[in-house]
Amino acid sequence: MKLTFLGTAAAEGLPAVWCNCAVCRKAKEAGGKEIRTRSQILIDYKLLVDFPMDTYMHMLGDKLDLSKADTVLITHAHMDHCYPQEFVLHGEPFAHGMTEPKITVYGNSTVAETFAKATRAELKPEIAPSVPMKTVKPFEQFKTASGYNVTALPAVHTKGEDCLFYAVEHCGKTALLFNDSGILPDVTYNKMAELGLKFDLVSFDCTYGHAKHGEGRHMGALDADGERDKMKARELVHGGTKYVLTHFSHNCNLSHSELCEIEKDYGFTVAYDGMTVEI
Ligand SMILES: [Zn+2]
Ligand SMILES: [Zn+2]
Ligand SMILES: [Zn+2]
Repeated sequence: MKLTFLGTAAAEGLPAVWCNCAVCRKAKEAGGKEIRTRSQILIDYKLLVDFPMDTYMHMLGDKLDLSKADTVLITHAHMDHCYPQEFVLHGEPFAHGMTEPKITVYGNSTVAETFAKATRAELKPEIAPSVPMKTVKPFEQFKTASGYNVTALPAVHTKGEDCLFYAVEHCGKTALLFNDSGILPDVTYNKMAELGLKFDLVSFDCTYGHAKHGEGRHMGALDADGERDKMKARELVHGGTKYVLTHFSHNCNLSHSELCEIEKDYGFTVAYDGMTVEI
């Protein structure tokens, strides 16, 4: 399985849209890996995890044929993860010669409502069947059109919404992809063990940089370190599991290179826009 981290920033981007802080000014100056767009992962060109407004930029930057993707897994309805307006253009006369005629969007009931609201005015009836929206619940398991086995898991993020993150399995390899989530209760890890999940790659929310945030709706690297211990205790991971940090905010006050320097001692790979990892 080949995972490309197309975007690795928290909601405001890095540099942030309206910000003139030192981190953002330095990032603008430096360019390259210091520039982070909103979070999105592409798996084997088939499956997108989250759909931010920067999807268009990701297509441009990586020269992607996004019409190859047949599945989108949306974690929650926050605007940096869920920009369904773009789906109204998924077909003629807006897109010609598409590789896959259909893309199925999965998400919780709040995402489904957001999808309906955002597409109601402009989604042509002849395009609608090519972008079906399917509602999923925590711990639901399903297979995508191209045969990826997905488990939806409950994130700790927004009250009143069943925020999700996903485990994706294909050809015997499994990636666990947190986007926005705080630390998880033991019951969630116990349930993952009951389901027999074992991860070859885990990517963590790292909004707070190299910090321990504790209870809350995002993590820092030291929270991720604790979550990794919980997974090790339940044999959800193994000696060769890869650990990635993503979804960084400028408020963590660290550049990409500074984060890399710190996190190498913790066995974390610091994601950057365009980074590809294979498992
Ligand atoms: Zn986010
Ligand atoms: Zn800033
Ligand atoms: Zn969020």
